[in-house]
Amino acid sequence: HKTVLSALSCPACSRQIPIFPSIPVVAASMSRPPPPFTPQNPTPAPRPGGQSPSSTLPASFSNLQISRAPPPFASVGPPQGDGPVPSSIRGPQAPPPGARPFPGSPSPPGSLFACPAPSVQQSPPFGAPPAAQSLQQQRPPFNGPPPVLPAQVQRAPFGGPPAASQPLPYGGPPAAVSQLAPFGVSPVAAAQSAPLGAPRYSAAQPPQFSGLSGAVSRPSYSGGSIPPFGAARAPSQQGPYGGPPQFGGERPGLQTPLFGAQTAPASQPPPFMGVRGANAPAFGPPGWQGQTRPAASSEFIVKDTGNCSPRLMRCTMNQIPCTGDLLTTSGMPLAIMVQPFALPHPSEEAIQLVDFGEMGPIRCSRCKAYINPFMRFVDQGKIFICNLCGFSNDTPREYLCNLGPDGRRRDADDRPELCRGTVEFIATKEFLVREPMPAVYFFLVDVSMNAIQTGATAAACSAISQSLSDLPEGPRTMVGIATFDSTIHFYSLKRAQQQPLMLIVPDIQDVYTPLQMDLILPVSECRDSLEQLLESIPSMFENNRVADSAFGAAMKAGFLAMKPTGGKLLVFQSVLPSVGTGSLSARETEGRSNISSGDKEAHKLLQPVDKTLKTMALEFAEYQVCVDVFLTTQSYTDVASISVVPSTTGGRVYYYFPFSALSDPAKLFNDLRWNITRPQGLEAVMRVRCSQGLQVQDYSGNFCKRVPTDIDLPAIDSDKTIMVSFKHDDKFQENSECGFQCALLYTTVYGQRRIRVINISLPCTSMLSNLFRCADLEAQFTYVVKQAANGIPSSSLSQVRDQVTSTCINILQSYRQYCASVSSSGQLILPEALKLLPLYTLALTKSIGLRNDGRLDDRSYWVSIVSSVSVSLAVPLVFPRMIALHDLTSRDDEDPLIPNPLTLNSENIQDNGIYLLENGEDGFIHVRNAVNPATLEQIFGFSSLAGAPNLLVLEQFDNVLSRKVNEVVNEIRRQRCSYLRLRLCQKGDPSGDFFRSLLVEDKAPGGLSYVEFLVHVHRQIQSKMT
Ligand SMILES: [Zn+2]
Repeated sequence: HKTVLSALSCPACSRQIPIFPSIPVVAASMSRPPPPFTPQNPTPAPRPGGQSPSSTLPASFSNLQISRAPPPFASVGPPQGDGPVPSSIRGPQAPPPGARPFPGSPSPPGSLFACPAPSVQQSPPFGAPPAAQSLQQQRPPFNGPPPVLPAQVQRAPFGGPPAASQPLPYGGPPAAVSQLAPFGVSPVAAAQSAPLGAPRYSAAQPPQFSGLSGAVSRPSYSGGSIPPFGAARAPSQQGPYGGPPQFGGERPGLQTPLFGAQTAPASQPPPFMGVRGANAPAFGPPGWQGQTRPAASSEFIVKDTGNCSPRLMRCTMNQIPCTGDLLTTSGMPLAIMVQPFALPHPSEEAIQLVDFGEMGPIRCSRCKAYINPFMRFVDQGKIFICNLCGFSNDTPREYLCNLGPDGRRRDADDRPELCRGTVEFIATKEFLVREPMPAVYFFLVDVSMNAIQTGATAAACSAISQSLSDLPEGPRTMVGIATFDSTIHFYSLKRAQQQPLMLIVPDIQDVYTPLQMDLILPVSECRDSLEQLLESIPSMFENNRVADSAFGAAMKAGFLAMKPTGGKLLVFQSVLPSVGTGSLSARETEGRSNISSGDKEAHKLLQPVDKTLKTMALEFAEYQVCVDVFLTTQSYTDVASISVVPSTTGGRVYYYFPFSALSDPAKLFNDLRWNITRPQGLEAVMRVRCSQGLQVQDYSGNFCKRVPTDIDLPAIDSDKTIMVSFKHDDKFQENSECGFQCALLYTTVYGQRRIRVINISLPCTSMLSNLFRCADLEAQFTYVVKQAANGIPSSSLSQVRDQVTSTCINILQSYRQYCASVSSSGQLILPEALKLLPLYTLALTKSIGLRNDGRLDDRSYWVSIVSSVSVSLAVPLVFPRMIALHDLTSRDDEDPLIPNPLTLNSENIQDNGIYLLENGEDGFIHVRNAVNPATLEQIFGFSSLAGAPNLLVLEQFDNVLSRKVNEVVNEIRRQRCSYLRLRLCQKGDPSGDFFRSLLVEDKAPGGLSYVEFLVHVHRQIQSKMT
């Protein structure tokens, strides 16, 4: 039943892999049916037996602190089923689909209403830390944003809260009010002496377009000083998670802190306040009706007075059309973008945690909506009327309270659930089908020949090792690791053992896990041995000649190990999966020939090749396993097929192509670290409810859907957005309100079950002009981008581009036809709120996803990130930001870190300039021919571009320009919560052409110039109207 391998030799060359003598290699014990185990090594070398393994260690390993080999069989447990339940794996198996109750199902029985008034606690921002006071002492709050990386000393082991004396990063107040004018003057407008800072057009005086010169709308950067998340980042006492991550330098540990210079605090912008959601609508502040939300990309602070922060939930229109016909006429989409864990501004009040005890949160007994500020109490508070379904509920006896003269409950201001748009409730037993799961992290590292030789394995091991201290603190955090090539190698990390034990799973068609003994352990018990193992893995496999990669089988094996708990499966993959379950083929070659022969089915290469991985992913999701895939590759890996797994399980693909061992390890590490430390929830279920009159049409994002009403999210984090679209099933009365409520049931990384409830209530209107006036450009455009991405795998690119353009034209035509007062045929009339829609639409048709040229994998990757992208990142992804780097020294230290973005046309490019263009994923640095070599030397450390690598390592040198460039790059990374990859783009090189192709206002082989596009849109509108 048990076979012991004493050594493993390379199947290709029969050479013995050197490290194995030092690590006992034990065949995994088998679960049902015993796998046809054949020793990997046809001629097993003699076992070291009792002799010290250090004597057999190769030279490169002599630094390993291995004092004694464990007895050959000492650590091998009994066959599965006979042994004791491993202490490291607790809890019952996850329930079958459908068995999990959703916030919607159970209704607290009346007998449970026996507890005192709910206690309310101020939960730290991001809702992660423990709630109940009794727990507060035991558990540290969320670790706070990752500190500056290079300063290793600042990083407390286990990521505890930073010491009080240390200035916390990102706690600073936001930029000054003066920097926040919502509309500045665009460069073009400035030339025409438009009134500074004033909106150029209003609905009453629509902008006019006649001919080629004139009012061309561009994003306005008033004073250029509206960086999202604020320019000032002075230290403050802000709690943990006051902001997005700080990223380390290009080479972790080698550089001085990059965030040394902090802008002084400035006065705060006026907070954005939504309607007061008093349980008496009449008492909202007057004049609110139809207030628009601040732009997602702008700096703002939210004061929650009943409607949620627009960061968490944002509708494509801030007034809801009374009828479906009106919505259709407008041409606009009706959807909300939900980003339930969106990072707040550091100055915003934390989301409050409400504990109703055993009674559980108050809910409408008909539609199960949670109590919220828009529910109205009547009849001396004895009845409350649901704002979603209109049902009159009896107020539970324990929750009774008199109404004041204003008709509101007297306690409304003291109860967060009655005065805040977003609250969290502690989940009662009804929301639990098992103990809340622990935070489990299982790492899978590709050690096939290619991964080893490109340095990808070493980079992955280093990133994991450095991230261990960022894992959530506490006894419930568990880790495990396996490596794989054409077989899968598990490691038992039991502390008592002096060295890790390797267990090999050779069957990659019908995968099983070794004994579940010790494969996943509390991090506190195995950290040292894990670190040691991670250090050893690159050299253990340094002579590996196995080129095959059993990616699918390895994921399956990792999943089986995690099945009892669920958790996060983090996969580091470097080549096209070639063997075992879920193996893939190089469809790209096939695709090239198809595309060149004009095959109309070329888009099929952007669909998953078959259902194998999808089926696996559905099973993973059922058992609460979320998969993130880090693709560190130099070749085609079929991202379209691979990305199905993360997108079904609430994860994402990280893509490093072409992987560079020089520049990418820093990004890999920072990405992994943010992945672990960002605010997130586990084993989540989400449902969105809305007022009668509307119904949810569809959900879109990275999740698994089993029933029409709910989506399952094995994990959800602060970067993920879910789009929910709606359709009318009835009419609304004019002046009524339409409510939306998102309920997210989840488990914190510290094991507390909570329900985050996010509310918004919007006025209904029968006036088309109101819809246009209150349209949310960025949310609407995000909808268009996501719809386009959904269409790419199923339609030809030209069809998708046409679809995108006609969406824009239909909206503008509706406005022109029904709302514009001026009707001269020579004018293009744009609604003020949507005046940038044509520009963004043009940019979308030229984006990496929709342009004709480009690699299949690049397009698939684009599709995969759009699937979960937030509103604030969707726009730059398509419409990048360009800034000049060469003259940064002319700026004062008091200026905002990031200078005014330049419009995206080549007229802005000077021959002696250096430009950075960033889209939230990549930073492209374009160096012009006539650049002063001294400037080049200051920024890059070399005076000539000849031989410079395309993937750039930006170092900080001892000069002002270099410091400022580094500050800008790091500020962008912070804003985007993404460690941008930097690429050098040179003229006369494909990279230079690529840079030019991102200047979306220019005429390009792939598309019209901006002015040409406006003319095109105008003509289309005219022809539709006649
Ligand atoms: Zn209801």
